[in-house]
Amino acid sequence: MMGGRVSNSEYDALVKLCFNENPYGPPPSVLDAMTGAFKYANRYGYPDGGIVEAIAVHHGVSPENVLIGSGSSEILDIVGTTFLVDHKKVVGVEPTFSAVYEHATGLKASAVRLALRADFHQDIPAIIKAVTDNRGEIGFVYLCNPNNPTGVIVTKEEVKQLLDALPADVPVLIDEAYHHFVENPAYATSIPYVSEGRPVIVTRTFSKIAAMAGMRLGYAIAPANLIQKMGPYIDVMNVNALAKWGGAAALKDTAALNKVRSDILQTRKKTTSALENMGYAVIPSEANFFMVNLRRPAGPVIQGFRKRGILVGRPFPPMFEYMRVSVGKPDEMERFMSAFEALMKA
Ligand code: PLP
Repeated sequence: MMGGRVSNSEYDALVKLCFNENPYGPPPSVLDAMTGAFKYANRYGYPDGGIVEAIAVHHGVSPENVLIGSGSSEILDIVGTTFLVDHKKVVGVEPTFSAVYEHATGLKASAVRLALRADFHQDIPAIIKAVTDNRGEIGFVYLCNPNNPTGVIVTKEEVKQLLDALPADVPVLIDEAYHHFVENPAYATSIPYVSEGRPVIVTRTFSKIAAMAGMRLGYAIAPANLIQKMGPYIDVMNVNALAKWGGAAALKDTAALNKVRSDILQTRKKTTSALENMGYAVIPSEANFFMVNLRRPAGPVIQGFRKRGILVGRPFPPMFEYMRVSVGKPDEMERFMSAFEALMKA
């Protein structure tokens, strides 16, 4: 990670628009809960703040439908470890959050990576066809909703179309890391499918809306039989005491999370309008980041930003002329816009 290679002061001075983090930091309620949990730093058997029960209640499911992980990344890895045995394949689009494919490679499994549609939506009929054509070889389907890096949603109708068409033994991993930022009424969370007993594994994270990326807490909501299959691959002590207490506090502090949401959305809209007014198309996003079409290779522009102390997203093949930008605080986006104007004039 970038933060490991620079000094503290250099890191602090950088404008960090590269990892879709929350620029505001955790709300006071979460910081207080984490601070209170420090007293358990020397313990194994400490009270855990009731995090699993709190997540279950929050979603109206039972604790046996919940698996917590050290970030949702750990859950994504465990889904791969569990369902890609015997060189099974994962099916999904490209570009998307590629950690799932990278983990598959590490497992000596492989991925069927499908192109996005011309409008940057995920191609649901193509996913269904890929599963049908490779019947018996597919371990699971990965659907990132909204998708990272595009910020584009899969509609609730499309999710239903996919689930209705797939065989019951092919679970769908639905990654809702950016759920809280979606405004489009055509979107819905897929968690209700868990209560229906459908083979879905929905993942969420405290890294984005709750600003806990460095603390590492995420979870899966899934039918109990799928949670049980994954259970053996997870270390029960994977999540630290601070993250558990902080996460439980974050679930309660809806006012603070709503404020982050509205501030981020307002800043995103202001920035994307400014880019569009300059003549640069932006893919309509439902997340705390967006992609802008530079109409030239993104690599050198990304380097140009880096030279100006601004980190933006890496290139996302095959979208080589697009740049992904996370939404920061208003002053950070002003620095971004000044640099953008200077770099694009060059
Ligand atoms: N899923 C998506 C789509 C992401 O973009 C990210 C992080 O950027 C993650 C999962 C992993 O988040 P974490 O491991 O911090 O929960």
